[in-house]
Amino acid sequence: MNGRRPLIAANWKMYKTLEETRAFFKEFIPKIKDIFDRDIIIAPPFTSLNEAANLVKEVPNCHIAAQNMHFEEQGAFTGEISPLMLKAIGVSFVIIGHSERRHIFGESDDLIGKKVKSAITHGICPILCVGETLEQREQGHTNEVISTQIDGGLSLVSLEEMESVTIAYEPVWAIGTGKTATPELAQEVHSFIRKLIAQKFNSPIAENLRLLYGGSVKPENVAGLMNQPDIDGALVGGASLEVNSFEKIVRFE
Ligand code: PGA
Repeated sequence: MNGRRPLIAANWKMYKTLEETRAFFKEFIPKIKDIFDRDIIIAPPFTSLNEAANLVKEVPNCHIAAQNMHFEEQGAFTGEISPLMLKAIGVSFVIIGHSERRHIFGESDDLIGKKVKSAITHGICPILCVGETLEQREQGHTNEVISTQIDGGLSLVSLEEMESVTIAYEPVWAIGTGKTATPELAQEVHSFIRKLIAQKFNSPIAENLRLLYGGSVKPENVAGLMNQPDIDGALVGGASLEVNSFEKIVRFE
C-alpha cells in the first residue's frame, strides 16, 4: 500500500445535454453512496457544470471538473471560460492539456503551463494530461515527449503548489481506439513520471502525487491497471458515459 487515495475520473468530452446529465446523476449517485475510500470526478461539458456541481453537493468524495479553461480571470476572450467562473459554481478540478486540446486545438506546452498555474492560483486542482502519439512511441521518443510535456505543464508550479496537482498519462494511440496500454507498459511510464517529479521537485512530492492512466479504460481492464504500484486511478472517456460501466470502473476490484 502506498497511501495514495485512488481517483477515478470521467471525461465526458462533448457528450451529454443538460437533461442527459441530470438523468446520469439521478441513477449514479445512489449507486456510489456506499463508496468512501476513493475520489470520483466527473467532467461534463461546460453547459452541464453548474447543474452537476449542485447535484453532487451531498456526496463529499464526488467532485466536478471542467474539461478546459482559459488562464485569464476575465477579458475580451470570446468563447472562453475563466477559473473565476468555474470556482464560482463549485468546480474544484480542471483537466488541462488533454491530447484532444493539444492536437485538435493546437494547445502548446507554454499555454498549458499557464493554465495549470492559473487553476492552482484560483484554488482549482489541475489534472495535467500527457502522452505520446503512436509515431513518437514507435520512434522510441516516449520518455522525451513525456518529459517535455511535464516540464512545460509544470514550469510555473512551486513545490508547495504541487500538492494540488494530478497527472494523467494518456497515450494518444490508446484514446478512444479500444487499444489499452498493457498494465506493464502503463506502469513503466508512470514510474518514469514519478522519477521525473522526484528530480524536478523532491521525493515526498513524487510519492504523494496521484498518477492516473487514461486510454480505453473499461470495466474489464481497470483492475489490472489499478494493481500496478504507480497507477493511482483512471481518466475514463467512452466508458464513463454509461452509469453501469462507470460504476464498475469506480469499484475496480
Ligand atoms: P477513452 O478516452 O477512455 O474513450 O479512450 C480517455 C480520455 O480521452 O480521457
